[in-house]
Amino acid sequence: MSGLFQDESPQDETTRDGTPPPPEGPGLFGDALPALAEPSSPAAHAAAYRVLARKYRPTRFEDLIGQEAMVRTLCNAFAIGRVAHAFMLTGVRGVGKTTTARIIARALNCVGPDGTGGPTADPCGVCGNCLAILAEREPDVFEMDAASRTGVDDVREIIEVSRSRPMKIRTKVFIIDEIHMLTRNAFNALLKTLEEPPPYVKFVFATTEIRKVPITVLSRCQRFDLRRVRVNELHTHFLHIAHQEGVQIEQAALDLIARAADGSVRDGLSLLDQAIAQAEGPITVAQVADMLGFADREAVFELMKAVMKGEPAKALEITERAYERGADLGVMLQDLLELVHTLTRLKSIPLLRHSPELPEVDRTRGAELADQLTVPTLARAWQMLLKGVGEVETAPDRRAAAEMVLIRLCHVADLPPPGDLVRRLTSGAQQASGTATLATGGPIDGQTGGQTGRSTGGATGGAPGGATVGSAGGAPRGPTAGATGGPTGGSMRAMAGGGAIAAAESAAAVPKLASFRDVTALVAERREAMLHAHLVHSVHLVRFAPPVIELRPQADAPRDLASKLAALLTEATGTRWTIALSAAEGTPTLADQGSAADAARRSAAADHPLVRAIMEAFPGARIDQVHDATADAYGLPMQPQHPPTTTEDAPPDIDFSDEMENEE
Ligand SMILES: [Zn+2]
Repeated sequence: MSGLFQDESPQDETTRDGTPPPPEGPGLFGDALPALAEPSSPAAHAAAYRVLARKYRPTRFEDLIGQEAMVRTLCNAFAIGRVAHAFMLTGVRGVGKTTTARIIARALNCVGPDGTGGPTADPCGVCGNCLAILAEREPDVFEMDAASRTGVDDVREIIEVSRSRPMKIRTKVFIIDEIHMLTRNAFNALLKTLEEPPPYVKFVFATTEIRKVPITVLSRCQRFDLRRVRVNELHTHFLHIAHQEGVQIEQAALDLIARAADGSVRDGLSLLDQAIAQAEGPITVAQVADMLGFADREAVFELMKAVMKGEPAKALEITERAYERGADLGVMLQDLLELVHTLTRLKSIPLLRHSPELPEVDRTRGAELADQLTVPTLARAWQMLLKGVGEVETAPDRRAAAEMVLIRLCHVADLPPPGDLVRRLTSGAQQASGTATLATGGPIDGQTGGQTGRSTGGATGGAPGGATVGSAGGAPRGPTAGATGGPTGGSMRAMAGGGAIAAAESAAAVPKLASFRDVTALVAERREAMLHAHLVHSVHLVRFAPPVIELRPQADAPRDLASKLAALLTEATGTRWTIALSAAEGTPTLADQGSAADAARRSAAADHPLVRAIMEAFPGARIDQVHDATADAYGLPMQPQHPPTTTEDAPPDIDFSDEMENEE
């Protein structure tokens, strides 16, 4: 056999000075394969300090911290004698996965003090089997780390070993840590044994990344999700251990350690180890804060304030001091990022302000800061910091990169929140095109046919339905059928009092179809989809002089386009329309005009100072779409309003022509 079962020092244990953990016996597989035992060990470290995590490793289910649900289920299973043949333990590092696996191994094999007992949820800890497993010298309890043994051959060894009965104990137990590291083939090889394991074999798998474990394997295991241990549970646990060790430690110091442990018993105990090693007398909160680098916590709050107030000088002064203290500015940015998250949580979950889950400083100073900031602002800061943290990692000069990020943040600080920006932007665009409409208030197609529109001062003539009436305009008016004025799109807008646009078109005088676009829109209204599509995409307007329209159809336009359009218009208006075909170039199609207008809007939007500010604040942002609320269905600037189409008011002075009929 190769070195599958060598005596590996459990990876989860470290000492405060980084040396390997002290020996507690030859190790799990030492007895079985003594030749493969690591050279590290015996005498040299005999007197070494025993790390707390090892010394206080739970030996019974009920001693596991914070995993009540799993413990209850396991105890029940043992009580009724229905213990799964494979377990999958998942959870972050240091929550007790390996510890649980070892307790399971003992529970399966304990024979009790009198040597006659069966499997039990409460292994005695004194029988030969318990002692051998506790001392990690039971040859039939195998422990391997899949992180270093990932291949199919390693799994084949396990399968081979699993074929023979255990020598002394009842059940062979295979504990495989970081099971997700196995290769696909290794998993497949394992699967067969998992499907029909010998009755004297149990598997206990542990993983920090459950999603990488194939479902075929998962489905054959009883799964337990070990949760992060809560701060108050850790606190209680550490306090207990401190008492046991005769160590004096301030409550607040213990609290800092419990929080820094981030749910991991092992990490917390490792910190407690460090604190004990450093202390000369009682462990103080100042000492622990220093040990954990919390001196910089204050700086992070100050930095956040400076950045959010848009004070780059102040921000750089803070980082300067931190840098002199030896702080890494990249790490400081990460701290800032984390603080943004905390502040956002504080805004979203008001109860957090009283939660022991948050450190005191976050609860007080954090809440104060959170009150001054909006969620959109925090979200923007998050985005920028997230990007900035990445930039710092790849930058040749971390400090310079971090400072650039902070300066960028400062400059965005006085911008309104993104939502407001967009709103402002939109209203800005509307104003802009409103002006544009005013400027081109005349007939858009440039053909008035010699007829003039009439401009009225807002009070006379009446505002057609749907037109805007300025504040000076007073009460709404219905459409009025005036009789004068030219027939064509001589609709003009005048400024009424207060600068509002008074849509005072000489309603009645204006024919319903003031432009080719109106004609096209009418076709759409009449649900002539094909005709409409051809008018938009395949037709160039040469002359618009109602009731005459000169067009140059493209080759793809249907032959009957002109006659169909003429018929429709004539039917709709009661006036005979003439559609003349022309060879002249004419204007671009409506579709092309729409694209051009869209392109123009895009470039205008890109030039807008607010958009430029956004683009600078969010490198990599791009303009997706520019919505112009004033544009019509063809993406073109809205034309003056026209009264509803009626048939009574056909322009009296039109010289009807029959060009169309003549042509056909
Ligand atoms: Zn026992």
